[in-house]
Parts: sequence; structure tokens; C-alpha cells
Amino acid sequence: MNIIVQKYGGSSVADSEKIKQIAKKIKEKIKENNKLIIVVSAMGKTTDNLLKLSREISKKPNLRELDMLLTTGEQISASLLSIALNEIKIKAKSLNAYQAGIYTNNEYNHAKIEKFDTKNILNHLENYQVLVITGFQGINQNGDLTTLGRGGSDTSAVALASSLNAKCEIYSDYPGIYTIDPKLYPNAKKIKKVNYDEMLEMSRLGSKVLHYRSVEIAKKYKTIIYCGATFSEEEGSYIMPGIEDSVVTGLSVDRGQTQVNIINLPINYSLINEIFKITTEKSFNVDMISIINANDKINVSFSIVENDKADMDEFLKTHLKEFKDVKLSYRYNLTKISVVGVGMRSSKGVAMRFFKSLDKIPITLVTTSEIKISALIDETNLSKAIKNIAEEFSL
Ligand code: ASP
Ligand code: MG
Repeated sequence: MNIIVQKYGGSSVADSEKIKQIAKKIKEKIKENNKLIIVVSAMGKTTDNLLKLSREISKKPNLRELDMLLTTGEQISASLLSIALNEIKIKAKSLNAYQAGIYTNNEYNHAKIEKFDTKNILNHLENYQVLVITGFQGINQNGDLTTLGRGGSDTSAVALASSLNAKCEIYSDYPGIYTIDPKLYPNAKKIKKVNYDEMLEMSRLGSKVLHYRSVEIAKKYKTIIYCGATFSEEEGSYIMPGIEDSVVTGLSVDRGQTQVNIINLPINYSLINEIFKITTEKSFNVDMISIINANDKINVSFSIVENDKADMDEFLKTHLKEFKDVKLSYRYNLTKISVVGVGMRSSKGVAMRFFKSLDKIPITLVTTSEIKISALIDETNLSKAIKNIAEEFSL
């Protein structure tokens, strides 16, 4: 039995016409003697709308209840697609996480898949040509529904494909993966093959192509992911093992960053360690960090996401109360711009070219790793920075 897992994103199943078109596409695919497992996202903006509804009632809804709510979205699209398939004489059956046997841990809203009942899924496949499975959801030990975090149906699909040793195809509006988000830079080039590590960095650094966790799983099981457009025949991109030739494969952008500056701290590294320890415990996502020893004082800067600013401010004010000289300030509307590429490991001068192409654009923080360089810049300079970097590295 040749099993293919295909995932269709929210905009691909946004209305009944599109659902019927996907059904036709699936019909073509099973002619080649394949069994298909289709994973779907919720229709269009359904998940956003459900979240909005819950916020109209409560600022901090109980997470178990929120997951109960959010999982309804995928149930709608899965059943509709199955109905559309039945309508054109295809034996299809929709399954939710409970019926399919998708087990997660207990972390509501950000659950991790722990195992699949693959036997159960294979049994169903004996009797049906197509199974349509709700993405984004699982069940936990209590038998409650959980969700995998926004964009999580990619992870449902990749995890399923990995445990069944199947091909994994992810369909969306875009015919593949681009060097830069085409919405930010229309001249961006399509990348034919991306290495797992590059894709992981790009996802972590703000590229919205795939759910981060899905790439982690693909890397672990060496599952090849094909990303293509739902309604076009254009050849897409592959995420797979292997090294690419290019030094820089892609550019990622992460908006909505705030820089925290703590100036005039006494030279007392245990205090600084303490600050970072507590911020981690409180789940603040402290990202780019700089610690500068100036005269007999220390200045610390780091970036956080804008949404954490109020809580961070409260925490720091309480914690640094006794240090009268310490000054706390913030810079807003910053964007992290990063270049990623496994080829950086073996080539020199990439950082120099990166900074040179940023020209006179002020950079407030920098971080690097073996395969990426990130700089924090003012949002207003973003399009200029993208253009310069794209030209420098032929993206
Ligand atoms: N419907 C969910 C979301 O909007 C899951 C997904 O689309 O992958 O986040
Ligand atoms: Mg998605």
C-alpha cells in the first residue's frame, strides 16, 4: 500500500467551492493506486474568529475549554471534505483526533504529539481510499481534546507521515518556499531544496512557512516534506537532508520586537544571572542579548516580543528597586532580520557582507550562530534592509 499524507491549509479549504476542487484533485491522485491520508486545517479565518469570540467573553479563558472550542474548526473542514469526496464516489471517512488515536501530553494550547494509534489508522485505510483527519488536535490522558499551537496542523501531517513512513505533501497558497516572504519582497526566488537545519532556523526566526515543530519531527525521522500550491501545478520545494551550495539560503523577518536596556547595573554577575533565570522561569522569551562592561558598571540589553513588555517592566521594576542608579529604558517597533544558510559554516566573510549591505541602517543588537546572523533594526528601515540584503546575496 502506497500511502501519501497531504495537508491542506486554511485558505485552501476556505469555502465549499475550494473543498470540491480539492476533492477532485484527490480523486486524480488515487487513480495512481495510492491511499491518501488528508490532514486539514480549519476553514479560512475560523480559528482566529473562534479565538476572538472567546476573548469577547473572557480575557483569560480556561485553556481546556479553549481547546474544546478551537478543535471544532478542523472538524468542520474534515467532515465537509469527506462529504465532497463521497459525492464524487470516493470512499472517504473523516476522523477526529479521538477516532484516529492521536495522543498528546497535557499541555492545553501547546500540546505535543506523543504517539499515534497507527494500527487503528491502517485498519481504517483497509476499507477506505481516503481518510480525512483533523489537523491541529489531539487527545490527552484525561480524554480531553488538546491543540498543538497555532499552525499546528503541519505538525499533525508530518508526524503522521513520519510514523507511517509515508510521503508528506503540504499544500497552501504558495507554490513552495521562498528566499524571502514574497509579501515582503515580491522578487524573492523559490528555493528548490531546503535543508532541515535551515528550515528550522527560518521557522524560528519568523518565517511563517511551516510550524516549527513539524520541521523538528521531519528532521528526526528524515521525512521529506514537499511544499506546493493547492491550486497550481507549479513545482514546489522540498525540505530534506543534504547540503545546498548557496551560502545564504533565505532571509527571515520577525516583527514586533522590543529592546530592553538596563543601564548602570553594579558589576555583580550573580544579579544578572538571577535576572535571566527568573525571566526564563516566567516564560519571557528573552532573545538577543548584549552585556557590556562600561567603567565600573554593566549595561545589559536584550530583546523580547512586544506583548511581553508590560509584564517585563513590572518584573524588572520590582527586582531592581534597590539599585537607585539603574536606568531602565525601552526601544519599540523593532524587527529582527536574519540570514540563514548551512553554507555559512564553510565560507568566510558572510557577516561582513551582511553588515555592509545594511549600510547606514542602525543596528541595535546582533546575534549569530554557525548558520545564521540576526540583527535588530528599526521597523521603518525594514524594506530598505531587505532589498539590500537580497541584492547582496542574490535572494
Ligand atoms: N487552524 C489552526 C490555526 O489556524 C491550525 C492550522 O491552521 O494549522 O492555527
Ligand atoms: Mg498553517
